[in-house]
Amino acid sequence: MGEQKRGHLFVISGPSGTGKGTICSELVKQGEAMLSVSMTTRAPREHEEEGKSYFFVSKGRFTEVIKEEGFFEYADVYGEYYGTPKLPVMEQIEAGKDVILEIDVNGAMQVRKCMPEAVLVFIMPPSPEELKRRIESRGTETPERIAKRLERSEGEIAKLGEYDYCVVNDDLALAVQNVLDIMQAERTCDTAPVSRLKAGAGAEDIIKKYMEAGSKAGGENVTLPTN
Ligand code: ADP
Ligand code: 5GP
Repeated sequence: MGEQKRGHLFVISGPSGTGKGTICSELVKQGEAMLSVSMTTRAPREHEEEGKSYFFVSKGRFTEVIKEEGFFEYADVYGEYYGTPKLPVMEQIEAGKDVILEIDVNGAMQVRKCMPEAVLVFIMPPSPEELKRRIESRGTETPERIAKRLERSEGEIAKLGEYDYCVVNDDLALAVQNVLDIMQAERTCDTAPVSRLKAGAGAEDIIKKYMEAGSKAGGENVTLPTN
């Protein structure tokens, strides 16, 4: 009997409000992969369900799981802890199933180190103004927390060059299709993916375009290999 082929690990990350959650729920709806449920110390928002949106735990419990080495990765995001439970992710991958992690940039960098074959996709907002509009329109954050998220987004975007792909989330349907295309390309190309290029300058160009985009979010979505 041949060995079970391992599944792929797709990491979807990018600044808060860029549309990661919206894109990931569409991918799950389309049956593309299992979305890992993270553990967090932050309070549930209205309509969030225990075990579906997150596992909501105390700081004490989170610290215990760190000590038990139960996280695949974890990070402090805006003063709260978020982590990916290790076991369910590894079980799915070993069983040949694909898994999506929707996590912050620090978590993505940890995944890069412990699983170099993971596919890292950065979801880029079309412009700083549109990012602000989206965070505000979601209506889940106080003005102080919105400011914190926008400030943090600059450092996150600066890490773009560490990713394998960048999808600019301007038109949502197109962005979802871009991610689906990336997933399909990676599944059919199991050795050295031809679509990933060594092109640090690619990331710089994308960031420049983002900074210059101004208040009018428009133009085409871009899917570019960044690495
Ligand atoms: P994240 O998970 O990255 O924090 P969300 O998925 O919660 O971001 O999206 C933030 C807000 O932006 C939501 O109100 C969502 O409906 C909206 N949004 C997401 N993608 C788009 C898009 N392409 N165009 C316009 N609004 C979008
Ligand atoms: P929110 O509080 O808006 O749900 O999430 C805040 C940030 O935490 C988002 O950028 C989200 O992607 C990130 N996040 C959610 N779960 C995890 C996780 O398990 N690990 C890491 N590193 N970040 C996470």
